[in-house]
This record gives sequence, C-alpha cells and structure tokens, in this order.
Amino acid sequence: MDLALSPQDLAFRDEVRRFLDDNLSEDLREAGRKTGGVFADFAAGLRWHKVLAKRGWSAPTWPREHGGTGWSATQRYIFARECIAADAPRIFSMGVRMVGPVIMKFGTPEQKAKYLPKIVSGDLVFCQGYSEPGSGSDLASLKTRAMRDGDDYVINGTKIWTTGAHIADHMFCLVRTSTEGKPQDGISFVLIDSMQTPGLTVKPIMTLAGDHEVNQVFFDNVRTPVANRIGPENAGWTVAKYLLEFERGGDAYTPNLYARIEDIRRIAREEAADGSGRLAGERSFAERLAETEMEIQALEMIEMQVLSDLSRGKNPGAASSAMKIRGSETLQKLDHLGVEALAWYAAPFEPEARMLGHNQPTVTPDYGVTAMPLYNNNRAASIYAGSNEIQRNIIAKAVLGL
Ligand SMILES: Cc1cc2nc3c(=O)[nH]c(=O)nc-3n(C[C@H](O)[C@H](O)[C@H](O)COP(=O)(O)OP(=O)(O)OC[C@H]3O[C@@H](n4cnc5c(N)ncnc54)[C@H](O)[C@@H]3O)c2cc1C
Repeated sequence: MDLALSPQDLAFRDEVRRFLDDNLSEDLREAGRKTGGVFADFAAGLRWHKVLAKRGWSAPTWPREHGGTGWSATQRYIFARECIAADAPRIFSMGVRMVGPVIMKFGTPEQKAKYLPKIVSGDLVFCQGYSEPGSGSDLASLKTRAMRDGDDYVINGTKIWTTGAHIADHMFCLVRTSTEGKPQDGISFVLIDSMQTPGLTVKPIMTLAGDHEVNQVFFDNVRTPVANRIGPENAGWTVAKYLLEFERGGDAYTPNLYARIEDIRRIAREEAADGSGRLAGERSFAERLAETEMEIQALEMIEMQVLSDLSRGKNPGAASSAMKIRGSETLQKLDHLGVEALAWYAAPFEPEARMLGHNQPTVTPDYGVTAMPLYNNNRAASIYAGSNEIQRNIIAKAVLGL
C-alpha cells in the first residue's frame, strides 16, 4: 500500500484545513480540547455535526447515494487527522458509525428513507442497547424480552452501559423474540423511536472521572412497532455482528493517538525532570515516547488496510479486532505517560476545569486538565466494543484456526 499523499490528496487536505479554519469556532475547539473521555460535550458535538452536514461531510464513511461523502479511505483518514489536529469536538456518532450502515444493508426502502437522511443531518441521535447485566461478552445470552402484540412489540427488561442514552432520542437494541433453539437464533434487532416512550427509564452511571456518559435503561412494557425491526424476526444476531465490525473498525484510531502523543510532548516540554531540565529532555521518558510512536505507526498500517477494505464494501473481519486491541492498548499507554509526566499535578479532582467557558485558576496546569480524566475513562477502552480478551478469542478462531 502506498501511503504517500497524491497531489489530489494534498489538495483535499488543504480544502479540509480551509474549511476547519473557517468553521471551527473557538468554543467548538475548546470542547475538543477539554474532552476527557471518548466524546466531546454532547451539545457541542451535535452543533459540529450540523455544521459538517451543511457542507455534506457529516457521514465520511457513507456512500453518496445515502448522503455520505463517498470519500476514499485516504480522504477519510486525512479528514479524521485534520479534524483532531484542529481540536474539532469528537461527535457522538452511533447513528453514522453503527446503525446507519446496518440500515443501509438490512433495512427496507421505507426504513432507509425514514432514518438515513436524519442521521446524516444530525436530527436523529441514536444510542446502542446491546449489553445487559450478565450479558456483555456473552451477548447472545441477553434476556430483554419482546413479545408480539398486534403490530407492536412489547419490551421488558434492562440494558446497561448505554452510552448517551440520556441525550439520544432513538435507540437501536437487541431483544429476545424467541427462547427456542440456540440463544443466537431468538434475537431481533429493533429501533425505538423515542427515548420518551412510556415505560422507558434512563438512570445515570457516573464514571471514575466524575462524568455522566453511561446509563442503565429499564423497559417496562415499552411498545415499538414491528415495522421498526431491522431484518427478519429472530435474525438479529447476524445484524448485530455486522454492526460490531463497524463499531470496532469504522473509526480511525491513529489520528487520535498521534494527537495524544503531541499533547504529552507538550506537557513534557513544560514539566521539570527529576534532575535538572525539562522532562522532554530526559532520556528514558523520550525513549518511551518514541517506542509508543513506533507502535502508532505500525497500527496505522493495519488501520489503512481496514479503512480501505471498508471503503470497497469489503468486510474487515478479524483485522478490526486486531486494530481494536492495539488501538486501545496504545491509548492506555499514552494515558499512563500523560499522568506520569504531570506527576502530582495530575492528581487534583477538578471536573469544573473541563466545563466549557470555565476560566478560573486550576491547580493542574491548563495543558494537563484532561490527563487524569482520560486515564480514568480510557480504562474502559479495552472493555467496550467487545473486551480485548474477546477480540483475542476472535483472532484465535478466525485467523489462527484454534
Ligand atoms: C464506558 C463503557 C461504555 C459502554 N457503552 C456501551 C453502549 O453504549 N452500549 C452497549 O450495549 N454496551 C456498552 N458497553 C458495554 C460493553 O460492551 C461491555 O461492558 C463489554 O462487552 C464487556 O461485557 P461485561 O461488562 O458484561 O463484562 P463480562 O462479559 O462479564 O466480562 C468480564 C471480564 O471477563 C472477560 N471475559 C468474559 N468472557 C470471556 C471469554 N469467553 N474469554 C476470555 N475472557 C472473557 C472479559 O474480557 C472481562 O475482562 C460499554 C461499556 C463501558 C465500560
């Protein structure tokens, strides 16, 4: 694979840079810089989504016929890198990244017309209702039950770790429509058109860093139309697995990792070393940063391959599992280096420092206020989207034939 940028790619990069210069307001950039978890402040992310939608750039991975950009893998990668380098807020994008591709593949023409344009425009925000207490890695054991009643399903049960359920207006979820046969054979994939549907309750779960990102969702006789089922009844497992490949492989990891390593270099240029001078000049720290950068470069190769497969409509298969493992482990390594570089100054608990518009003095220097929240929140990176142990099992079976 040739990774050098062609003249057309360079022209595209310049076009993206101009667009970002003109459209990323300072408050949106602040939201990007102050991100202490996976997603930026939800409201800021949504505002940015709508700016991108106006330009036709809100669904970088989608084909043009559904309102996407039709970009090549390289263009998508360039776009992701430029956005992160310019501090664009990271959008809560389960619609574009996950359920959108599923609706394109398994949805009826009516479902495509109903949902896809509004996902692109940012008028529909989806959350993901897969995991349940006791059914995370062993997802097929899920118990949330959907019983047919006329033209509706009536749903009872609970989902947990539902990111953004408190700000989403829609949910895609896996429900049990049969208890016959293998657990995988009794699951259906349904959409819930409003998080305000009677019987549906969202309860917050606060993260270690003090953020509200995840929730538990309870269903007490929640009705959703049978017409909201994606794919045939009891064939939801196939739909669910297709979505998981986009969850693990649909987003570029390395632009974020490159941006994080730059942040840590900035901290190391400011912070004192043990002896004299700055941390950036300390040999052992510089060596560890260099080693990590080489890991990012290696990961970039896998990532380009996966993005290229996805853009040609190919299924990335186990490569997305490899990318998820390396991406999350390298991220955690960087988080560790960030906290180590700040030493005591990483420790104060100052969640207000990450509030948009906050301008009071903080104990942790400005350039470090996200270091500890990122360290804490990203512990989950090796758990969500399928834990790394489960990804290793997938590679063992699919690649090594074990
Ligand atoms: C921050 C965060 C956000 C999340 N967001 C969402 C969301 O929006 N929507 C959603 O549906 N889910 C979400 N999840 C849930 C996530 O997908 C699950 O937590 C994950 O799949 C693990 O499931 P579990 O928590 O039940 O742990 P378990 O499955 O109980 O696993 C516990 C431990 O055992 C290991 N383990 C389990 N089975 C095996 C095995 N067969 N072989 C080897 N090791 C094994 C696991 O790797 C893990 O270390 C989120 C989770 C977190 C932490």
